[in-house]
Amino acid sequence: MTSDRLPGTVWFVGAGPGDPDLITVKGRKLLEQSGAVLFAGSLVDQAATLFAPEGCEIRDSKDMTLEEMTDWLIDAARRHATVVRLQTGDPGLYGALIEMTRPLTAAGLAWAVVPGVSSAMAAMAAAGETLTLPEVTQTVILTRVAGRTPMPPGEELEALAAHRTTLCIFLSITLLHKVQEALLAAGWREDAPILVVQKASWPGEEKIIRGTIRDIKQKCQAEKIGSQAMIVASPTLGAADWTDLIRSKLYDPTFTHRFRKASEKPHA
Ligand code: SAH
Repeated sequence: MTSDRLPGTVWFVGAGPGDPDLITVKGRKLLEQSGAVLFAGSLVDQAATLFAPEGCEIRDSKDMTLEEMTDWLIDAARRHATVVRLQTGDPGLYGALIEMTRPLTAAGLAWAVVPGVSSAMAAMAAAGETLTLPEVTQTVILTRVAGRTPMPPGEELEALAAHRTTLCIFLSITLLHKVQEALLAAGWREDAPILVVQKASWPGEEKIIRGTIRDIKQKCQAEKIGSQAMIVASPTLGAADWTDLIRSKLYDPTFTHRFRKASEKPHA
């Protein structure tokens, strides 16, 4: 390899929530042609080792500082045309994306992002639940509670929960008591359903816990769920069993839209 060749591109690829089959086709193609892969944490090593070619430099970033990671990526991009930074779920969610891209830009490197299936979507899929439901909630909030990372003013869970939307709560399983307190303070009922999914989409390792605000912490403790879990609070939970479901207008025979004329008159 000569030193005057053009540097490669660093691709920030979303690996998806864990099941290697849930990476995008584009992400997989990039891995297959990569010269170096820096992967984030234990949830994505499978995709890296399954799809990266023989001889690819593969490194786990779990013991590296941000500077060490960006130095590694910059060095790799001087030697390889395709370098992949593989991250769980989508790289734009709690992924330190901008902290990593700025030093690359400063070093004159090209970079791009390939989105991924977030664990928020995977958790709901695993439980057969929906994020939105007509006339129940049409809004999803992706958030966390304050741990060592503080929440910006106005984004406290209690304030967000007041909207009664679907709340997908990342990085907070060890702070379940704070989630309980915030939801109750925002006026949610103690028996409102809560879903916790650990290792969503991981074949053989996924755990789905259904409870209420009151008992979810005990249930998670009983199942020893202390990491890699998504907490969902939503007025849509359990809708598969409701008797009074309001159907979606899009598929209602009385509703005309761009692709279909109404086949029936609206009911009186
Ligand atoms: N970028 C990732 C989130 C990284 S932050 C995404 O889009 O999913 C790490 C947090 O994501 C974990 O604390 C957990 O709350 C959640 N998480 C990641 N993978 C998960 C999985 N397979 N199942 C459940 N939660 C997961």
